[in-house]
Amino acid sequence: MAENTVSENMVASVHYTGTLPENGEVFDSSEGRDPLTFLVGHKQMIPGFEDEIMGAKVGERREFTLTSDRAYGDRDKDAVMEIPREQFKQLEEESSLEVGMQLVAQMPHGPSPFTITSLTDETVTADFNHALAGQSLTFSVEVVELREASEEELSHGHVHGPDGHDHD
Ligand code: ZN
Repeated sequence: MAENTVSENMVASVHYTGTLPENGEVFDSSEGRDPLTFLVGHKQMIPGFEDEIMGAKVGERREFTLTSDRAYGDRDKDAVMEIPREQFKQLEEESSLEVGMQLVAQMPHGPSPFTITSLTDETVTADFNHALAGQSLTFSVEVVELREASEEELSHGHVHGPDGHDHD
């Protein structure tokens, strides 16, 4: 029966640990936190993550490695920009800029996070690629809860509270 497995329009709660296959470094984990809860089949997750746990039952654990095309995509060279340092003047009054710092730019289409990848007196190099773009990712996932989505959740395309009815 479909309602007992991860499938489209189900609300799935999972515990997961994501590692980089080349060195085993953990980049994200739900360990010590609430499980991650999402509506299956509504593009809330990176594509390969859902594909690989489709059909899993509560209590089932799966481990898989996704190539970047099934995770955060390839790195885009055009998404790296040099911005005049002048534009950061206001920010620099409050805190100093550092390589590796993550900031959010207000762009016409909405807020866009970026990472500072280099700094000179004149320019700030901003990388708008996702930090995990271009990487293969290994996940260990355990399904901890499954329920059917409410009508409201399905029409909104996201999960509400535990009973499917609250809204923030
Ligand atoms: Zn909603």
